[in-house]
Amino acid sequence: MRNEQGGATVTEPEGAREEADFAHKPPASQRLEEGVEPDVEMGDDTFRFPSARDEYFKAPTFAYENPHLDMTQRGDKPGPKQLPVATATPFTSGLFPRAVIPFDDLLANLDMALQTQIKENPENFLAVVPFGAGNKFFKANPDVNKRVRDFVATLGYNNNGLSVHKAEPQDKPSDKRDFEKPWAMILRANDPDLCSYLVWQQTFAIDRTLAFNIVPFDKNLKPWVIANYCGDAVANNADERRTALVAIKQKLWTDANFRKIADRLMAQQGISGNLNKRVYMATSSFDLTFIDTNNAGGDLAPIWQLTGKPLTNDKDDHREYLAAIRNVTVYVNMNKLKLDKRVVQCVGCKAPTHPGHKCSFPDHPTEAEVGSPAEGVLEEAAEIETIKEVEVVEVEIEAAVVAGPL
Ligand SMILES: [Zn+2]
Repeated sequence: MRNEQGGATVTEPEGAREEADFAHKPPASQRLEEGVEPDVEMGDDTFRFPSARDEYFKAPTFAYENPHLDMTQRGDKPGPKQLPVATATPFTSGLFPRAVIPFDDLLANLDMALQTQIKENPENFLAVVPFGAGNKFFKANPDVNKRVRDFVATLGYNNNGLSVHKAEPQDKPSDKRDFEKPWAMILRANDPDLCSYLVWQQTFAIDRTLAFNIVPFDKNLKPWVIANYCGDAVANNADERRTALVAIKQKLWTDANFRKIADRLMAQQGISGNLNKRVYMATSSFDLTFIDTNNAGGDLAPIWQLTGKPLTNDKDDHREYLAAIRNVTVYVNMNKLKLDKRVVQCVGCKAPTHPGHKCSFPDHPTEAEVGSPAEGVLEEAAEIETIKEVEVVEVEIEAAVVAGPL
């Protein structure tokens, strides 16, 4: 579930939260944005958009596909002979949130020689991303690749060809920023059982100085984050949040640019239906989450984060789709939803859905003798940098995409 105080956590299905939200709160459809007629037919299109009141009560679709709600140990559990031996170095064996780190982020600022090899055969490698990865961590832990390799070697698999390579940077990261990329060390192993197990388990917390996630280099994994909003409208209030979500959807349903892009991408996926229906379906997975955080100056500056299922695996099409959504202007109760130029990113686990001080990894049960994973790292991270600085360039580029011919 996602709670109003703690940003994203992943202990309960999305539907359960929606039920809880609605149980004791009256709808606020009377306060929905004026000027939009959701029931109106557009052109020859016969699909009728739901009323704001009906939409208010709808739970996001496809929540079961949302990678940010996944946990580790997905899929079939490896058989007894494919699990680590009892003599392995102890580590946490519990469930943790799935690490959702896009392919491009795993490769970012890695030396080009490494990038080239991984891009050619991503299935031959696994990414090892320590908690708190970044230039400061790798500087303080120059032998961490050897420590990971030595740990993996104790698991009892065939260690022929097992190696873990340093995250060699292409450009020297700025010393001013502690969590600059590259983040990923590169693991190679010949034993398919070992690779399957590492990906299935994902999170290994060895002690307070070493905890890491192992993930595949998956070109198709896309975060569901669409936009972060700030401004006077943003409140820690489920009713207002849902009112805003409907206002965003209504705006997009009538936005010519979004309609064109959503229709095209849905058609490419083979989704049947007419234009209005495709546009409606494109927004049906949308959700808005409250993120309690501060700005760079330390002042309270909460965020509403819009998420939704990506409509395409194509990088350029996806950017165009995001830009179309980010470029519409939405008012909620006379307050403009402002596109926040901050990028939410956990400095610990690298999730784009919560800042470092809201990371749920340390809250998950761990084995008593091991302690909380990377507790020291996370405590320190929360003090240093809870949210990344402005990335104005990215926003401007995406705006330019929309301005161009489509
Ligand atoms: Zn985190």
